[in-house]
Amino acid sequence: MRDADFFRRWMAATAAAVEQEADRLTELDSPIGDADHGVNMLRGFTAVREVLDAEGPGTPGAVLRLAGRTLISTVGGASGPLYGTLLRRTGKELGEAAEVSDDALREALYAGVGAVAQLGGSAPGDKTMLDALVPGVAALSTSYRAAGDAAQDGAQATVPMLARKGRARYLGERSIGHQDPGATSAALLLGALAEVAG
Ligand code: ADP
Ligand code: MG
Repeated sequence: MRDADFFRRWMAATAAAVEQEADRLTELDSPIGDADHGVNMLRGFTAVREVLDAEGPGTPGAVLRLAGRTLISTVGGASGPLYGTLLRRTGKELGEAAEVSDDALREALYAGVGAVAQLGGSAPGDKTMLDALVPGVAALSTSYRAAGDAAQDGAQATVPMLARKGRARYLGERSIGHQDPGATSAALLLGALAEVAG
């Protein structure tokens, strides 16, 4: 079973990974975006780490809902509402339980990813964060490590894709040949989960 502390460690590990990869995320957002994805993610997850330390929510669901609200209120770019929705919806599914099973977390994340698709009007193949989130969450039925790896493979698989959503879609064919920044950060999120679940 996973308690609130596990979820706080997941968010802290994500913040650390984002801090380490922020420059790369912004670099990836340069040719097919507006070069702010690393800055956006760093601002958002730094705020998440601070608010979780300050408020110390006591249940898994409350940790994720607070993290999601914080991303929505601190990140100006498209990724803020999208990641915020992912965490808020996942947290809502986890309810008020003090501890949750790995099966419950998998189901909740599945619902969270569905909420991202709904908000974004996007699907796998559109060259977005969903190209890492969908295979990543699907692989949770194997293991946390498999989920992290599948998300990373999913992010790499966005390179040959034509962008159909987000700023990159304005580039049309010129979006081909670049890795999607949001898929790359989604792989950090699921990689951090694998790390803390280790
Ligand atoms: P912005 O595009 O507003 O500058 P960011 O640079 O922080 O925001 O985030 C860009 C990422 O957001 C993209 O790489 C993509 O993965 C994701 N994204 C953008 N639009 C959508 C959408 N409609 N559905 C899913 N993901 C999206
Ligand atoms: Mg951007």
